[in-house]
Amino acid sequence: MGQLLDGKRLADIRARKLQKQVCELKSLGVQPLFCVINIGDDPSSKIYLKTKKSRANQIGIEQKLFQLPKTIPQQELLKLIKRLNNEKAVNGIMIQLPVPQQINLNEVLAAIDPEKDVDCLTPANIGRLWQGEHFVEPATAHGILALLDYYHITLKGKNAVIIGRSSIVGKPLAALMLERDATVSILHLKTKNLAEYTKRADILVTATGQANLVTAEMIKKDAVIIDVGISRVKGKTVGDVDFAQVAPLSSFITPVPGGVGPLTVESLMEQVVQLTRRNYGK
Ligand code: NDP
Repeated sequence: MGQLLDGKRLADIRARKLQKQVCELKSLGVQPLFCVINIGDDPSSKIYLKTKKSRANQIGIEQKLFQLPKTIPQQELLKLIKRLNNEKAVNGIMIQLPVPQQINLNEVLAAIDPEKDVDCLTPANIGRLWQGEHFVEPATAHGILALLDYYHITLKGKNAVIIGRSSIVGKPLAALMLERDATVSILHLKTKNLAEYTKRADILVTATGQANLVTAEMIKKDAVIIDVGISRVKGKTVGDVDFAQVAPLSSFITPVPGGVGPLTVESLMEQVVQLTRRNYGK
């Protein structure tokens, strides 16, 4: 049985450090504040928003929620972003995904001031990331690397395989792993024969939301398994990996829940604090 990569424990350790940084900022009269824009009433977004809010409170970060109707016109949304860009007290802005179909997401993301782009989704910050400049790091990818570092799992020369190519998980994680000298493959729905790639993975990350996608036959013995996926099956939260089958073959594996999830929220808070410090030249 592989060793569990305990994301909850690491998130709590990092949260205590972050709390201290926030206290220091507050003693200088600076209050980290980030704004979340949520459009419509996606049920999983509601859960994510609640988790973020409670973590922000715990750390001493202020989170303001802008709840907008599903039918909001693009121009109204752009106006709100412009206003928040210009508010000095706002240090971070994020759009809760998914957004309704009428919204042109790329245009919206490009409208966010890169200095306040908590999720690293503006074209400027995505470009910086691929150039190796860590202005801000996407929360999930940042959390995964923190977890690997904590357990002394190195990437240099390893085969890293990522299933899922979203802008919030797969793509930025590939950039960061490549920078650490891993050989990275990104798989997706059109990939023929996933197992052909996954069987060669020293480190396998899966972020699809498809329960039980990753089975024992797809794993190289002693691989490190990072399960980002979240789905609900028979009232239980599960990842993409068939944990019972895969865990005995792995060297390390994340549980779901309690693996990547807590670190994503924690990393988001770290990015807010980093942007705040930078905005105030601290
Ligand atoms: P997206 O839906 O944006 O992306 C999913 C990706 O998985 C796509 O690239 C898709 O391929 C690929 N995919 C889906 N099914 C398969 C399959 N059968 N075989 C190969 N590839 C497949 O999702 P997100 O990246 O936003 O999130 C992915 C999962 O991670 C979700 O369950 C989400 O809830 C969870 N999540 C968890 C976080 C955490 O902190 N634990 C943080 C963020 C997300 P294609 O591009 O071809 O469509």
